[in-house]
Amino acid sequence: MPIRVLSPLLVNQIAAGEVVERPASVVKELVENAVDAGAGRIEVSIENGGLDLIQVADDGTGIRADELALAVASHATSKIADPGDLEAISTMGFRGEALASIASVSRLRLLSRPHDVPEGAQIEVEGGTLRPVRPASAAPGTTVLVRTLFFNTPARRKFLRSARAEAGRVSEVVEAIAMAHPAVGFRLEVDGRATIDLPAGQDRRARVVEILGRGLEPELLEIGDETGGEVLAMWGLVGLPRIAKATSKHVRLFLNGRFVTDRTVLHALRESYRGLVEPHRSPVAALFLRVDPHDVDVNVHPAKSEVRFRNPSMIHGLVHRTVLRRLRQADLVPELDLARMGGATPDPKLGGASLGAPSQRSEGHAGPSWTWSGSSAARGPTAPASWSGFDLDAAREVMAGSAPTGPASAEALPTIRFAPEVMQVQRRYLVTQDEHGIVVIDQHALHERVMFERLRERIERGPLESQRLLVPATAEVDAGASEAIDALEPLLMRLGIEATPLGPRTVAVHAFPSLLFERGVEPAPFVQELLTRAADEGLPHEPEAALAEVLDMMACKAAIKSGDRLSESELAELLALRETVERATNCPHGRPTSLRLTVRDLDRQFGRS
Ligand code: ADP
Ligand code: MG
Repeated sequence: MPIRVLSPLLVNQIAAGEVVERPASVVKELVENAVDAGAGRIEVSIENGGLDLIQVADDGTGIRADELALAVASHATSKIADPGDLEAISTMGFRGEALASIASVSRLRLLSRPHDVPEGAQIEVEGGTLRPVRPASAAPGTTVLVRTLFFNTPARRKFLRSARAEAGRVSEVVEAIAMAHPAVGFRLEVDGRATIDLPAGQDRRARVVEILGRGLEPELLEIGDETGGEVLAMWGLVGLPRIAKATSKHVRLFLNGRFVTDRTVLHALRESYRGLVEPHRSPVAALFLRVDPHDVDVNVHPAKSEVRFRNPSMIHGLVHRTVLRRLRQADLVPELDLARMGGATPDPKLGGASLGAPSQRSEGHAGPSWTWSGSSAARGPTAPASWSGFDLDAAREVMAGSAPTGPASAEALPTIRFAPEVMQVQRRYLVTQDEHGIVVIDQHALHERVMFERLRERIERGPLESQRLLVPATAEVDAGASEAIDALEPLLMRLGIEATPLGPRTVAVHAFPSLLFERGVEPAPFVQELLTRAADEGLPHEPEAALAEVLDMMACKAAIKSGDRLSESELAELLALRETVERATNCPHGRPTSLRLTVRDLDRQFGRS
């Protein structure tokens, strides 16, 4: 084929390939145009997932009749005029190709009337062919109707999902734009039914909360207006770790009023939650950043959904620091929701108390799975409500193991252990109280977090102190021993582990971190596990992430186990550490270390409210 210049229709259809992927992208472009036109209210309606009809109506500035044809022409825009403007974009649109692209793959009608003109006008375009401009009656503002999207590009049509799924995406787009423009009223109708209806003139917090769901409000933390470096302002709402979701869809980032996906900010956000949510889950967040338009390039993606910051590490640092600080201030102990667990209405047959799911209930009726140690029958019912007022001497006796234990059951059921403010149940859970109610702690998970933070803090100051072994310990490894050690050398040094190959599959451990020694961790099995894990699953490439993973492994080994009996002083120490250590509410894997049963909830369940 000879080389030729493409027809305008083909040019526009190629552009449409980038910009108009699906109905939701049409809605995005049209709604952004309405925002740029200063609309106070924007109404969107779609039929059949947007394939039959997409209509966007606004009360913005409107377009003059003599400019209608230009509006649907490609590379025609009223938003930028010279190259300098590209350096500082302040409108949502600027490429001047959305309407032309959409018109090339649909039947489009543009109907508009500026506020100071008595009559409106309209233009129709069918698959890129313009019909003459005609007068039409219209309210002030602009309405765009897009029918039979992709009627002339069947390949595109094939890639679409069900009407329901496409409608879902449209709704996400409208929500995202609405979040960033709380002053504007938004309405979305799907097949004649209103699914979004947001009043004009909302404040930013109310708008975000309304979109995320009002029920979620108690689970959201507000980040005050922050500034730093090139960031003129940052504001947002971030969810408590316990409402983290399986996908990152619930992270909404806005840059200068534009909804964007940005890996830098997303990464910073997820880093702030590291260790508070499980690695495959993602926090809920709406973050709004304002930067000088000169410091960000929005002209890097046809749909303008990605941006390039001039100084990404500064943005990363600010987001990370701010969110982390906010999370640290928050009370992150998850609360057990009795109502949700067992049905909200107390069961009258149970005397007002509903003890949760039937299986749990029958367990409850079979008798408590623990007993008060010592003369249980006598002490149980009269045990004081506050442990601070508890009979300390009696408790000490129990803890010293010298108290007369009951009959055989005491052997079958692990003893409860008391420190002044805490008891250990089943050698696994610690029960204590705080100002909100009863707190149940997983002893291993909490101690694992404590060890992890201690190791991390320690290693920031230099390699861990190690202790030399009189006789080297030998560990067997699957892969080539020397390669495995070589690969991990820098990491091993920081950890205070000294190991050399002894044979093709044998490693000698000469030195081992004192902290692990003190906690009774055996060098050989540990090194063996470390090398095996590195060979099988591989450690993360990023040195800090690899370090975190190994520290986590160390913390897990060094921590108190489930089943360990704790002395009074150990119990007290662990509780004290819980107050001081960072992110004490979750173990390094993100699982909770503690759960709370609030007095408020108990009151409700006991019918006291
Ligand atoms: P861009 O938004 O990049 O300028 P578009 O193709 O989306 O390009 O729109 C072309 C032009 O049409 C805009 O620059 C604007 O002048 C005008 N326009 C489009 N939609 C509207 C609207 N809803 N209200 C007023 N003017 C509009
Ligand atoms: Mg536009």
